[in-house]
Amino acid sequence: MLYLDHSATTPILPEVKDKMMVYLTNEFGNPSGKYYELANNAKSAISNARSEISKLINSSEEEIIFTSGATESNNMALKGVADYYSAANKRHIITSKSEHSAVIDVCEFLESKGFNITYLDVDRYGRVNPRDLEKAINKDTLLVSIMWGNNELGSLNDVKELSEICKEQGVLFHTDATQVLGKTPIDWEEIPGVSFLSVSAHKMHGPKGVGALIIRKDQYGNLIPLTPLFHGGGQEKGIRSGTYSVHNIVGFGEAARIARVNLDDNIEQLYKLEEKLIAILKNKFGQQISFNSDHQNKLPGVINVRFIGLNNEVLLKKLSPIIAASTGSACSSAKPSHVLQATGLELSEVRESIRFSFSPYTNLDDIDIFYEL
Ligand code: PLP
Repeated sequence: MLYLDHSATTPILPEVKDKMMVYLTNEFGNPSGKYYELANNAKSAISNARSEISKLINSSEEEIIFTSGATESNNMALKGVADYYSAANKRHIITSKSEHSAVIDVCEFLESKGFNITYLDVDRYGRVNPRDLEKAINKDTLLVSIMWGNNELGSLNDVKELSEICKEQGVLFHTDATQVLGKTPIDWEEIPGVSFLSVSAHKMHGPKGVGALIIRKDQYGNLIPLTPLFHGGGQEKGIRSGTYSVHNIVGFGEAARIARVNLDDNIEQLYKLEEKLIAILKNKFGQQISFNSDHQNKLPGVINVRFIGLNNEVLLKKLSPIIAASTGSACSSAKPSHVLQATGLELSEVRESIRFSFSPYTNLDDIDIFYEL
């Protein structure tokens, strides 16, 4: 079976598993312990992982706060900012209609708590027009949350421009970069307008259940403050209490190291895979398909295709013994994609659409299976 649902999740690499196993077995210490070797070993394992992630995104190590994944990171940024600054009486938050549910649903929750939310329209590929953001910001705007790479279409927002608009207006900016990490370079120093950035390990061959929120240091060297979601032992500078998931963090670090070392080759391979599949699909299906995803300003290795007149669920079920793909976000797969609807597709067209997403480790020859459909 050919697995082409890497935007949903990826298998962990053998090197990642091997490193993790050490901390699931012999090295079981709690890094918050003191004096004895087991605790110190766990502490330095966390510190190595932090260093690897900081190298992948060119941030400082202090700006990395480990979480259980991007859902938690998004919740931490949005709820944490909303709560911390509520006394300042700024109650307007801007997001977009093509965000992952881990942002949209948080915004809906905040709306129920009295915040005003603007959901910006997106273009036919799911991108936000920076001019629309400029127009939407007002004196009450506290935070903007706009994703970097879309999980269903792969489209990339111009996060640099969007975040600079916010910086000029004194508005905090969060971006969900879950799909971007390891697939496109992220240079934290190059995007100073981004206050918060969410990432997750399991989209780049790391383990599930670990991610991070990257929080910008202010001019005094302090992290931009927010209210923690969890209170307790004070881990991660008190921003994220809870015993460290050492093996997961170690796995995240190793996946980040491997992604950094291979980034250019990986991107090249992802483009090759996508181009080959596009060519086969065009050749085989001609006018019976159309592409929902763009070919420019997009993450490599994600394509979204409409099979005109065919129901996507029926098609995926039929394909499932040989090809695993999806209708869109794994987290909201029961509902027709809100992302595709936001791009202007009719519900009937959404129900004909399938996402294929590759890993750099997908074998180019394996794509030949599409000839047999
Ligand atoms: N944000 C985006 C864009 C995603 O694609 C995902 C994963 O599906 C998430 C957030 C949630 O990430 P996690 O599974 O780490 O909570």
